[in-house]
Formats: sequence, C-alpha cells, structure tokens
Amino acid sequence: MMGYLDKFDIVIGLEIHAELSTKTKVFCSCKNEFGAEPNSNTCPVCTGMPGALPVLNRYAVELAIKASLSFGCKISPYTVFERKNYFYPDLSKAYQISQLVYPLNVGGQIVLDSGKVVRLNRIHLEEDAGKLTHISKVVGTLVDYNRGGTPLIEIVTEPDISSADEAVEFLKKVREALMFEDIARCKMEEGGLRCDVNLSLKPKGSTEFGTRTEMKNLNSFKSVQRAIEFEAKRQAEILFEGGKIAQETRKWDDDKGKSLAMRSKEQAQDYRYFPDPDLLPIKISEENIENVRKEMVMLPSDRRKIYVEKLGLPEYDAKILTSSKYISDYFETCLKTFDSPKKISNWIMVDLLKLVKEGEEFVFPISEQDLACIIKMVEEKQINKTIGLQLMEKVIETGKEPLTLAKEMNLFVTISDEQILQLLEKLKAENEKVVADFKVSSEKVVGFIVGYVMKNTGGKANGTRVKELIKKVFD
Ligand code: ADP
Ligand code: MG
Ligand code: ZN
Repeated sequence: MMGYLDKFDIVIGLEIHAELSTKTKVFCSCKNEFGAEPNSNTCPVCTGMPGALPVLNRYAVELAIKASLSFGCKISPYTVFERKNYFYPDLSKAYQISQLVYPLNVGGQIVLDSGKVVRLNRIHLEEDAGKLTHISKVVGTLVDYNRGGTPLIEIVTEPDISSADEAVEFLKKVREALMFEDIARCKMEEGGLRCDVNLSLKPKGSTEFGTRTEMKNLNSFKSVQRAIEFEAKRQAEILFEGGKIAQETRKWDDDKGKSLAMRSKEQAQDYRYFPDPDLLPIKISEENIENVRKEMVMLPSDRRKIYVEKLGLPEYDAKILTSSKYISDYFETCLKTFDSPKKISNWIMVDLLKLVKEGEEFVFPISEQDLACIIKMVEEKQINKTIGLQLMEKVIETGKEPLTLAKEMNLFVTISDEQILQLLEKLKAENEKVVADFKVSSEKVVGFIVGYVMKNTGGKANGTRVKELIKKVFD
C-alpha cells in the first residue's frame, strides 16, 4: 500500500474557519455565545427578514486585523463585503455575507519548526451559518440559527503543506496565535475552529499540480491527521492504476475512518458573488491599524525568544511557559516579585501545572506574588523546598499571605548548629553501619544522614549546613 504513495508528493492547502471572540454577532447586536437556548439569539437581521439592515461590528474588524498582524499579512486599505448566494436550510437569508475580490488581508506566513514557510493566501471576514441537527427520517431536521451571523475569519493557505504532520503543526500554530491574542477561543469541540483540507498528489519531483479534493469541516487535530493520511492513500491507489481524481467535495467520517464523496466541486460563479448593497466598503487607515497594534501583546514566538536569549531559559521551558498567554503572563508577573527566571519556571512547570486539571478553565490557584514570595524564601534558605511546598498548599487552602502563614506555622524557627551536631553525634553513637559505610563511600550515606536530621527537625534544618556538619562529625 505505502508503495503507491512513495511515488507521489502530497500537496495540501488549508482553509481554516475561526469564530471570533466578539460579544455580539457581526452584523446585528444578538449575542455571540455557544450553548444558548436554540434560536434565542436571533433577530430580523441575522435571520434575513426582508428589509432588515446589517450594521458592521467594528470589533470583529479589529480582531481580524489582529489576526492579520499576528501572521504578517498585508491589511487592505479598501475591503468589500459580498453576498455568496446559495440555498441551504441553515442559511435563512439564502446568502452568506463574505468577501471575495477585496478580502481584508492578503499574504502573510507561518514558519514551521523545521524552518519551512507556509504562505497564507488571504484572511477574510465572513458570517457563520446556523446549525442543523438531523434527528431521524420521521422527525426530520432541527435548525438553530443562534450561530447564524456570528463572525468568522477564514484563513486560506497556499498549497505549501506536504504532509499530515505539517498540516497539524500548522493548525496548532494558528490556534496558539489566535488564542494568545484572544482573537478566537478556538474551542474545537464546539466547532470554534474548523478546517477544510484541499489535497492533491503529483508525481515525485513534478512541478505541475494534480486535481484536488476538498474535505470539509474537520474539527480535531486527530481527524485532520487521519483524513489526510486516508485521502492521500486513496488518491495514490487511483492514480497508480491509471485512474483520474474527480474534483469533488468529500466528507470525512471519523467513525468509519473514511472519506466519502459529497458533491462535485461547484465553481465560484455558481454562487453569483456580488457586493452587498446594504454594506459600504470599509477603508482602513494606517492609524486604525496602529491603534489595533497598540492593544496587542507580544507574540508567543517573540516571548519564547526573549525567554531563551535574555532570561537564559532552556528551549523546553520557554515552550511550555508560552503555551498560553495566561501562563506566560503569570510567569512574567512572578519575575516582578522575585527575579529568578529558572527557579520560577521550575515551580510553574513541576509544581503548579500539575494542580490544573485537564479540560478546566486554566487558572493557577495561587497569586503570582504569593508564589514568588514562597520561592524567594526557599532560595534564600529561610525554609527548604519541602516546607515551601507545604506552605504553598496552605496558602491555597487558606488564602492567607505566605509571610503571615510562615510565622503562624513557626517555619522560620531555625535549627542551631548545636542541635544538628547533637543529632549527628547521636546517630554516630547508635548506628555503626552508617559510620562504616561513610568510610567506604561518603556520598552514598550523606543523603541518608541529611534525611535523618530533617526527619528529626521537622524539615527545618538548613540542608547545606547539615552537609558541612556531617563532614565535621564523620570524617
Ligand atoms: P476554492 O475557492 O474553490 O476553495 P481556492 O483557489 O481558493 O479554491 O483554493 C482553496 C484551497 O485549495 C487553498 O488553500 C489552496 O492552497 C488549495 N489548493 C489549490 N489548488 C490545490 C491543489 N492542486 N492541491 C491541493 N491544494 C490546492
Ligand atoms: Mg474552498
Ligand atoms: Zn441578530
């Protein structure tokens, strides 16, 4: 089977739809929210009643400009909304307001980890359609227009992607950037980020593109991966046996693990696109763009670079810390209280991230100041790490300040040299094996002895000091 695919290069172009995180819809003031009572967020505008007039949501345009700035697109100074005419029950207007000839943004790119550049063709702004739920032949199909008229950006790539892995990496990068700036929430399980895969094959090394198929509305990384692998293999078998690929839209069935023909590819003119006479073209000035740019935070890739080059963190740490804007902001705020990047990073990666349950809204249970304060106490050897972790738990539990709690818990009572020496002498007198082992290899037993002292001091002895004293007593 794989043999067929060896003879071809895979060519993939993606069309990605992301729901913008506006409060209201793009041409009316209905709420843009997921999961509301069906058809409760609707009005004459978004259901296309005769005579209703759309009014553009400025915020949606701003978010689309942010997306464009994130990916280095050129923002068109002049952009037009067009009607894409077609009939389907989820679209009560019988046309979708979209953009064709004058999209909001053109060009741009995303660089994959391998250094490979995937060029963007365009990003345009459009409205989403409603949602159909097919119940059964008897009951029929239910329609919910809540999603109709919510703002989407469509990101269209050039056919630069050559494997399932590249496609998934690309999508993850898009998602990361959109979420980082809160342009889109990208909840894939709610359809907040979906992707159409255009795929064709060409003989290895050839420059001429083959006929492509398009698989619609994939909404998980897994299904994108599987759909591409399946479709590439399917086309390879047909082409290898001298057949032709039909240019068509296909539906990916995740349960069956197959793609099925849906309809032959419609041509753009079938939609009879024309400029929407109800909406004026928009002019976007440099000043408009600058105002949006000012609101943007630094991109994850830029932050990562600073973490590695200026703060001296390993790539691995930088990657995890910039995996969301929340963690990244949290980390940076911690640094304001205690400027020790690697120590802060360790606590976040090892001790904090495990406290967040998967699938939950991502919030660390302790404030940046409190965490940094505890790390500082540990680093300045006022308390040891184990006590530090206990203190963190107590802070989370009670909401009190670390310093107050530490005093209440008597954590700062330090153990004197005399007390440590006493314990060591006691151990020496009672445990001949330790004395003998120490003579053979001190390294092996030091850990044991430190542990003994810690156990008998409630973990409050200073580890470094204990080690110095061990030498004195046992050498
Ligand atoms: P349409 O509007 O019909 O969907 P576009 O020209 O806008 O067509 O292209 C849609 C997507 O298909 C783009 O991402 C593009 O890169 C991709 N694409 C175009 N030609 C091919 C091809 N031969 N093989 C794979 N992808 C292709
Ligand atoms: Mg298309
Ligand atoms: Zn409405």
